[in-house]
Amino acid sequence: MADQLVVDGQLQEYVRQMSLRDDDILRALRAETAGMPMLRAMLVLPEEAQFLALLVRLTGASKVLEVGTFTGYSSLCMARALPSHGSLVTCDNSERWTRIATRYWQQAGVADRIDLRLGDAADSLDQLAGETGADSFDLAFIDADKANYLRYYEQCLDLVRPGGLLVLDNTLFFGKVIDPAAQDPDTLAIRELNTRLRDDERVEISMLAVADGLTLVHKKLERKPR
Ligand code: CA
Repeated sequence: MADQLVVDGQLQEYVRQMSLRDDDILRALRAETAGMPMLRAMLVLPEEAQFLALLVRLTGASKVLEVGTFTGYSSLCMARALPSHGSLVTCDNSERWTRIATRYWQQAGVADRIDLRLGDAADSLDQLAGETGADSFDLAFIDADKANYLRYYEQCLDLVRPGGLLVLDNTLFFGKVIDPAAQDPDTLAIRELNTRLRDDERVEISMLAVADGLTLVHKKLERKPR
């Protein structure tokens, strides 16, 4: 069996140089977010956001759901990848961060296709389910408070159509998932989520050791167990 390549900073930089399609708006948003030192770890890697945008294109998604907007970088990238009739609903409880997001969405000309839901994300998702019903999104990206990941996962699995895709960020959680000394609620929640995903017969999965761990979840067309 081949080995998983260990990607150090230099190799990561090479990946970036060889693949990142960057522009002034994305650079400015990254710079502004990096100015918040305690929070910058919450920003997705630029190549990861580009991957999300590619997933939107590959799946032909026109209705995208995001849990955890933060400063709107991944929303911006995914919104750009939508077809002209597409839309993205994104949930966050921070007015301060999403104010930054909104400014950049406007600059990028995608604000009209993004529907920001401010407030507790689980409540927003419940509300959304009441509005749109189940099976109404093509793709969901979950990147919010880890303690509630399982709840968000169940809610999003309901909201995404059969055949649709869910993407969960931080599923390796700084590598803490394999550290027995790490018993904080966030790590415990991610471990529990990973175990549940592994055993979940409703979906097919692929856990990618990129960035901080990214798990792709395909909602099966038929819910019958194999
Ligand atoms: Ca994240």
